[in-house]
Amino acid sequence: MELIALSAFTDNYIWLWRQDDHAVVVDPGDAKPVLAALSALNLQLGAILVTHHHADHTGGVDELCQATGAQVYTSDSEDWGLAHTRVNQGSHFELLGQRVEVIDVPGHTAGHVAYHLPQAQPAPVLFCGDTLFSGGCGRLFEGTPAQMLHSLSVLADLASNTRVCCAHEYTLSNLRFAAAVEPDNIDLQNYTAHCQQLRAQGKPTLPTPLGLELRINPFLRSRQAAIRHSVARHAGLSEQAQQDDVAVFAALRQWKNDFR
Ligand SMILES: [Zn+2]
Repeated sequence: MELIALSAFTDNYIWLWRQDDHAVVVDPGDAKPVLAALSALNLQLGAILVTHHHADHTGGVDELCQATGAQVYTSDSEDWGLAHTRVNQGSHFELLGQRVEVIDVPGHTAGHVAYHLPQAQPAPVLFCGDTLFSGGCGRLFEGTPAQMLHSLSVLADLASNTRVCCAHEYTLSNLRFAAAVEPDNIDLQNYTAHCQQLRAQGKPTLPTPLGLELRINPFLRSRQAAIRHSVARHAGLSEQAQQDDVAVFAALRQWKNDFR
């Protein structure tokens, strides 16, 4: 399988997963770049995977369906009007010869799902929408900090070589925040230099290996002592709150919301 990040809007990626002359796309907020890629590469679109209901992830779905007849998979708990195949935690199906497993990851939205391809070669693949970003995580529009912390913990337990396909190119700005939280993290400094190089060449920083995110992403590291202390100092958390995983995560997320 081949993974191609199609740019859309200012910083969205629509992931196109290609196998021979067939394709699947994830979160097509805009039909145009997808139709252009299908035509340029002579591919037939078989399915559309949707992680959550936001317009920058769904805006192109109707047009693509009409143009290609592709089957659409969406979260069981996010109904935005069309007759789609509804999925949730534990759902699994086969696409382009790959097993696809659905993981519920509420937090950014209440019904957000991720699609996991555990048997993909050369390494598993995760389409995680706006839940996990390189160096960051999605804003909490509908879910609670406890839900997001749990969702990220579930993703963190996947194989460390999993290729994480995030839906936005937010990496460099996330890494600026990560450096404020964890200024002494050498892995983070090295990764930042690497991503700056990629962006200077106009290349995506994604997909990102999960094992690397576990070393540099503060939202996957909020239980680490260094981050606990940093967040506690910034937010003025009490000794008791510092021991509370959800309170630390909530304060970390709030710090990011306010970070300029
Ligand atoms: Zn979103």
